[in-house]
Amino acid sequence: MRCTNCSKESEISIASNPFCKSCMVDLVEKRIRKFIRAANYLKKEDRVLVIGKFADKVIKGIVKGLPLKIKIKEDMGFNDDPKGFIERLNKEEHEYDKIILPWTAEHECCLFLEQMLGKEADFSILGNTIRQKYIKLFRPLQEQELEIFAAAKGFSFQRRKKDIYTNILDTMDRKYPESRFSLLKSIDDLAVALDKR
Ligand SMILES: [Zn+2]
Repeated sequence: MRCTNCSKESEISIASNPFCKSCMVDLVEKRIRKFIRAANYLKKEDRVLVIGKFADKVIKGIVKGLPLKIKIKEDMGFNDDPKGFIERLNKEEHEYDKIILPWTAEHECCLFLEQMLGKEADFSILGNTIRQKYIKLFRPLQEQELEIFAAAKGFSFQRRKKDIYTNILDTMDRKYPESRFSLLKSIDDLAVALDKR
């Protein structure tokens, strides 16, 4: 199969579109840039806390030329419990204008399922982050895409541990490809609706 973009031999297929590695990397970078710029998340001189070295590398590539006061924090424990990680950040939250998380589509969907199926049903950190301090840097991406992108940038990307929520997502994906994107969209709609109340 040929790359959808440049017609070189393709190596990867995303949502049944074949891509070569270099076009894939460009595409991912563009998608993150668009996500960050569209929401106008970052302003000059913002005090920014970035979680993890990979997110730091990506954000610096995107905001070239924009003067920010960036501090990095280890992402230890983030991947398996992003909600707990955010709760632990509460104390130092006020020191920053923005906090950038290595948050993927999987983190979003799994947390949503967890809240839907649990007793607490806390949706406060779900949805697009427009009115919030937290920026979910990799939310428009799937783990598979992020893995390729990270490798091209010299980082190793750790997938989430398999649990009942990732299993539900995998089952949905097999039956209805693209369902993950519909779920993300629904989460956004729900977050907006809850915010208006
Ligand atoms: Zn290509």
